[in-house]
Amino acid sequence: MHDHSGPEPAQISNPEPSSQASASAVPWQTALTDRLRFYRDLGITDFYRCAVPEPIQQALAQGAPAVPAAVPTAVPTAVQAQPAAQPRPNPAASPSAVIPAASPTEALIPRIPVPAPPAPIAPIPPSARPAALEALRTEIGDCTRCKLHQGRNKLVFGDGDPAARLLFVGEGPGADEDAQGIPFVGRGGQLLNNMIGAMGLRRDQVYIANVVKCRPPGNRTPEADEGATCSPFLMRQIQIVAPEVVVALGQTAVTWLTGQKRPLNAWRGSVHQVLGAKLIVTFHPAYLLRDPNQKKFAWEDLQLAMRELGLQPPQRKS
Ligand code: SF4
Repeated sequence: MHDHSGPEPAQISNPEPSSQASASAVPWQTALTDRLRFYRDLGITDFYRCAVPEPIQQALAQGAPAVPAAVPTAVPTAVQAQPAAQPRPNPAASPSAVIPAASPTEALIPRIPVPAPPAPIAPIPPSARPAALEALRTEIGDCTRCKLHQGRNKLVFGDGDPAARLLFVGEGPGADEDAQGIPFVGRGGQLLNNMIGAMGLRRDQVYIANVVKCRPPGNRTPEADEGATCSPFLMRQIQIVAPEVVVALGQTAVTWLTGQKRPLNAWRGSVHQVLGAKLIVTFHPAYLLRDPNQKKFAWEDLQLAMRELGLQPPQRKS
């Protein structure tokens, strides 16, 4: 009966509730007391406490209730009722190798409406990728598909090598980007250039794009309808460039790339998948400008990307 996953046993010496507690006990307390009394009658008195599963910890960290008051038993029941052989989404067909929502703990994680991943396309030869990106840019045109066009100065499509092995994804244009029509050209852009240089690469050797291509007012986070409207263009850019590694810069980028909203640190430190590329997650340069202490952790993430690309950091000049 011992579960050896827990650290210390707890002796249940007297499962009987006090009369005061019994009077005020809620149904789950009464049920628990009855179950403990049953175990005691069997001679079982040692119990171990299991660690809280990570998805529940994440949900709690995000403010979700550990057990939603409205569905205290419905979610586990629904999961139990699901036949083991019931078809589940094929991760290979999703934009990333993410785990489909199936457990009650995962159901607690907030989700956002994310467009279906684009249909697979035949690989485009590197020589044809510039034209393919140009065709996509022409298709986007003078876009008015979402409300972000209203405050736009210049649409920021993307920048870099159309056949890059490494592709960075940011959130959306800021003031400098909106003025120039090029992603990551402000202070955050300078920091991103430095990060790229630290990897032993030049900016023109990578590709850079954003979740939304028009500047959100006041640099706010893109709203759900804006991300849902614009992110399919990003996904098609990734398909065309076909990088080996995608680095998501910040929470918004990884959320729209994967369709899953988790704390950033839950993504960092491991390799995920998006549209056939390896997905690595790190902080947005704007965040690193606000908190430079995080740069060392961003460097760890970039080193993970370098490992996947087989890159060595450049030698320091003495
Ligand atoms: S953000 Fe994207 S969808 Fe919205 S107007 Fe700009 S290009 Fe069009």
